[in-house]
Amino acid sequence: MGHIDLHCHSNASDGALTPTQVVERAVAQGAQMLALTDHDCLAGLAEARQAAETLNLPFVAGVEVSVTWRGKHTIHIVGLNIDSTSDTLSGHLAQVRQGRQERLQHMADLLAKRGINGVYAGALALATNPDMVGRAHIARYLVSQGVCKDVHSVFRQYIVPGKPGYVKHEWAQLADAVQWIRDAGGIAVVAHPGRYEFKRTSMMALLTEFKEAGGGAIEVSSASHSADERLQFASYAKEFDLLSSAGSDFHVPGEKGREVGVTPDLPSGCRPLWDEWLKERK
Ligand code: AMP
Ligand code: MN
Ligand code: MN
Ligand code: MN
Repeated sequence: MGHIDLHCHSNASDGALTPTQVVERAVAQGAQMLALTDHDCLAGLAEARQAAETLNLPFVAGVEVSVTWRGKHTIHIVGLNIDSTSDTLSGHLAQVRQGRQERLQHMADLLAKRGINGVYAGALALATNPDMVGRAHIARYLVSQGVCKDVHSVFRQYIVPGKPGYVKHEWAQLADAVQWIRDAGGIAVVAHPGRYEFKRTSMMALLTEFKEAGGGAIEVSSASHSADERLQFASYAKEFDLLSSAGSDFHVPGEKGREVGVTPDLPSGCRPLWDEWLKERK
C-alpha cells in the first residue's frame, strides 16, 4: 500500500469529518501527501491546508466536480493543485451546486410516497453547507430512522437509477469542468473510472473527449478498484498518454476497505501524477 491520497472528502461536502479531522486522520495513517477533494465546493480547503501545515503534511488543494456525460452518465472529474481562492472556479462550482436542494425536495417527495417522511429536513440537518446536500446525507438520514441497516443498502434500494427515490440531475459538462480546473491552474483527473462500468467503446470515447478537453490523468489506484481494474486503467493511461493518480475516496471512518491516506500502489510502468509535487516539497 502507498501513502499518497489525492481524493477524499470532509463534511464540507458529504464526508463525516471536519477538514482538520481528515488531515489528522491521514497523518495518523502515515499519509505522505493528501488532497482534499470535496464535491463541487472549495469550502474545506483553507482549514485543511492550515491543519496540514501544522502537521507538516504535504497538501494539495482539490475538488471533485460532478459531470453529466452524453446526457445520461454521471462522471466525476477530480481537479488537483487548483487555486483554492479562484473566484471564477468558485462561481462555476456554485452553479453546479445549484439545484441540489430542489433535487432533495423531489427525492423527499418520492420517498414520502413510500412512507418515508422528513427526508428534506432530515438530510439538510446532516449537511454542513445547505447547498452541498447530497444523496449521502439522505442515506444517513434513512439509516438514522431505521429504514435501512446501512448507507449502501439505502443506495441500492432507494436512490440509484431505477429505484423509487432516484431523481436524474444535470451536472456540469465534461469539457467545461476540465477547462475550469485548468483555468484555476490545476490538473483534471478522471475519478474512479471503474465505477462507471463502461465497456471499452464507451471508456475510449470518454477518455478521448477528456484528453481533447485538456484532461491530464486517470485515477488508476482507487479504493473502488480491484487489482484487475488497476491494471486495466494503467493500460488506458498509457494508451492515452495520461498520468496516473491514486485516491482513497474516503468519506467516513470505518468503511470497509477504505481509509484516508492509504491507497494501493500503482502498477509498474505508470507515471505518477504527484512525482513533481513530491520533488518540489523535498
Ligand atoms: P450525489 O453527488 O449527491 O448524487 O452523491 C454522490 C455520492 O453518493 C458519492 O460521492 C458517494 O459519496 C455516494 N454514493 C454513491 N453511490 C453510493 C453507494 N452505492 N454506496 C454508498 N455511497 C454511495
Ligand atoms: Mn461522496
Ligand atoms: Mn466520486
Ligand atoms: Mn469522491
